[in-house]
This record gives sequence, structure tokens and C-alpha cells, in this order.
Amino acid sequence: MSATDYEALKFHDGLVKAGLIIPVGVQGVFGRNHVFESVLEGFNTAVSRLAKDDHAEYFVYPPVIDRKVLEKVDYMDSFPHLAGTVHSFFGKELDARKLSERIHAGEPWGQEMGLTDVTLNPAACYPVYPSFTGTVPAAGKLVTMLNWVYRHEPSPEPTRMQAFRVREFVRCGTPDQVVEWRDMWLQRGLTLLTTLGLQAASDVANDPFFGKGGKMLAASQREQKLKFEVLVPVISKDKPTACCSFNFHEGHFGEVFDIQTPDGNVANTACLGFGLERCVMALFQEHGFDPATWPSEVRAVLWPQTVA
Ligand code: ZN
Repeated sequence: MSATDYEALKFHDGLVKAGLIIPVGVQGVFGRNHVFESVLEGFNTAVSRLAKDDHAEYFVYPPVIDRKVLEKVDYMDSFPHLAGTVHSFFGKELDARKLSERIHAGEPWGQEMGLTDVTLNPAACYPVYPSFTGTVPAAGKLVTMLNWVYRHEPSPEPTRMQAFRVREFVRCGTPDQVVEWRDMWLQRGLTLLTTLGLQAASDVANDPFFGKGGKMLAASQREQKLKFEVLVPVISKDKPTACCSFNFHEGHFGEVFDIQTPDGNVANTACLGFGLERCVMALFQEHGFDPATWPSEVRAVLWPQTVA
């Protein structure tokens, strides 16, 4: 039984009423309660179980990233509308007084602040690429991360958040190694979501590139099948929500960060990420707001130790 007949605002209100999310006054930002978190942890642990024989290195990065990484990967050319730069105050006494006056007068005060060396991290995998610089082993590299990411997309629609967590995997190596790995995970992702009773389907996708030039980038990304998503109905049956994405970057990051394979060629990379909050919301939509009433086969995947 679905929670809210697939209607975005009703679903948001249902999550709030059930106490699962706690509004803070800004669109796309909210707290999560312990029930929401226990589903998220159960899902994340199920992903870890799928990956346990792959022996990925596990890293956690803070929600901010070196601004130079964004500059090097041309993020501000492709997605300036999504970026969250971090500004701080660099002024003297007099400037501080001006800042205070502006704020207390209800005036804009951004011009009193200056760009820092960090930005909010817009993609779970970005922090790891600079650490690959050099020659990777013949077997390539495999890293998994759980990172908060930021996108400036305020929306009343609950699956479109300004800050959310992604369980990410990054593979670096030869083109064959990374494409084979990405395809294997596309299948794993579909199987996991289907096992959880979700109506998951994969499709070719594109990133939300900015502006007119962005349309061409998006078209070429689709044409080359560089990005796939696994979609699940959460707020709409007709327009299902992307819950995981699978990306092949070819030699893009290898070139930018000077990464080679042992044969001397530019290393290729691929990444995949499970949008954890979206996967959790898909479960609430599909099975209802109280996990105690969910089908036992779903609970067995999320909390195997508690289901006899
Ligand atoms: Zn990624």
C-alpha cells in the first residue's frame, strides 16, 4: 500500500506528520528522526553487503571540498547554478561594523564577505580523484565513500534536497575494467531495489548542465550512454525519481589529475552513487510511513539480525 498516492506535497506533509523529517524553515533542508535514520543505515548496510567481496577502500570526507578541485574539473562552467561556495569575513573593525549594520537593517550583506578556499562538496566522488594522481596498480583502484553533498536546488518537493547523503563507489583503471564494473553495479542496484519491493528500472540519463551550451553536453552524454540512472516512483508514477546513478567519465578525471594505468595510458574512471535519502523515501512511499508494518522480506534485507 503506497503512502500518499504519489503526490509530492502530500508526501512531504506525510513524512512531516509521521515525524520522519523535521522542517527547519528553508526548502530542501530538514532534520531526520531515528526511524528515518534506521532505514537509511539498514539500506546503506545492505549496499555494503553487496560490495563486501570487492575490497573497496572506505573513506569519509567532510561536506566541504578544496575550491581548486571544482575549478579544475570545470564545475563552474557546467553547473554554476548548483554550486555552494563558502564565504567568510576577511575585514577589519570598520568593515565588521558595516556588516552588522547591514544585517540589522535587513539589507543584503553578501558584498561584505569573501570567497574562501573551500566550497560545499557538490558530488560525492570529487574529493577522491586528486588522491589518485600517479600510476594506479594493474588491478586499478576501488574506493567507497559516504559523503554529504550540496546542490543549490531549493524545492518544496521532498526528494529534491539542498543537502543529502550519497553512498558512492569509484573505480579507476583501464576502460574495460571500469565499464565492466559499472555494468555489474547497475545490475546489483536494480536487484537490491527490486528485492526491497520497489518498482526499479534503469534508463540512460544526463546531468543538469547549465544554459544553451549545456543542452549539447547533455545530448552528447546521452548519445554516448555515459550516464545511467535507476529510477523508482517516489513522488510520481509517470516521472520516477533517480535513486542511483552510474557514470562513466572516460579519461576526464585521469587527464585533469594526471592519473595513469601501468601501460602509460590515461586512466579511466567511473562512479556510482545511491542517493540514500531518496532510497529511504522510496521505501516509505511504497510500504507506508511505519517500518514496523513493512513486509518481512523487506525488513529482512534492511535489518537481517532482527528478523527471525
Ligand atoms: Zn560520482
